[in-house]
Amino acid sequence: MSLQVDQFMCRSDNFGVLIHDPQSGKTATIDAPDEGPILDALKRNGWTLDEILTTHHHGDHVEANAALKQRFDAKITGPAAEAGKIPGIDIQVADGDTITFGSQTAQIIATPGHTLGEISYFFQESGLLFAGDTLFALGCGRVFEGTPKMMWESLQKLMKLPPETTIYCGHEYTEANAAFALSVDPDNAALKNRCEGITSLRQAGKPTLPTTLDVELATNPFLRPADPAIRAHLGMQNATDSEVFTEIRARKDRF
Ligand code: ZN
Ligand code: FE
Repeated sequence: MSLQVDQFMCRSDNFGVLIHDPQSGKTATIDAPDEGPILDALKRNGWTLDEILTTHHHGDHVEANAALKQRFDAKITGPAAEAGKIPGIDIQVADGDTITFGSQTAQIIATPGHTLGEISYFFQESGLLFAGDTLFALGCGRVFEGTPKMMWESLQKLMKLPPETTIYCGHEYTEANAAFALSVDPDNAALKNRCEGITSLRQAGKPTLPTTLDVELATNPFLRPADPAIRAHLGMQNATDSEVFTEIRARKDRF
C-alpha cells in the first residue's frame, strides 16, 4: 500500500509535507518549517505525529523540531553530517542507509551542495522522493556550503531514480525558476508548454508541486547540461557537463 501525502504551504514559500502509512497508522513530517500549519494539517487528516524526517539544518526546515518533539514525543531523523545543527535529532543517517517508517522503507541519498550534509529520502515502494532544497521544480538549491561540482554530483544521483518518481521539494519557487529556465533553454517546446501550465496554476493560487522526474529531465535546465541546445545557447559546446551546470547555476544566482 502506498503512502498518503498531504502537502501545504508554510511560512512564505516553504512546503509542509506530511506522509502517512495507512498500514501502520504512522505519520511523519518531512522537515518542520512551522508548527501551526503542521498542526492544522495533522488535525485535518486525523493523524498524530510520530516522526520528523529532516533534510538539512536550515532554520526554515527545523524551526518546529523542538516544539513538535515536545508535543508528540516525535522521533527525529536527520543527516549525521550536520547532526549538531539539527535540534532534537535522535537518529543520524548517512548515504546508503535505509530507514523504516511504518510498513515502508526509505533509502537515504546524500545530496550535498546546498548544505554539506543535506540528504534526500527515497521511498521506493511508493515511488516518492523528498528532495528538500536540493532539487526544485525547474530549479535546484542555491549552493551555500558546497561547490557547484558537488551539487551536480548530487543531482546526478537523483537523475538515476525511476523516471516516474514523484518529487516533493522544500519550496514553491517554480514561477521564478520557469522564467530563468526559459532564458537558457528558450526553444525547448516541453519547457514552454510547462511554463504556461505553471502560470495558470499560480494564477489560480495552486501549488506547482509535486513534480515527476521525467518532467524535470525534459525541462529543468539544471538536469540538462548535456543538452546540445543549451550548450549552444551558452557557447559551451566543448565543456564538461559539470562546467555547463556551474555556468547555469552562476547565471541563476545573477538572474
Ligand atoms: Zn535550505
Ligand atoms: Fe529552505
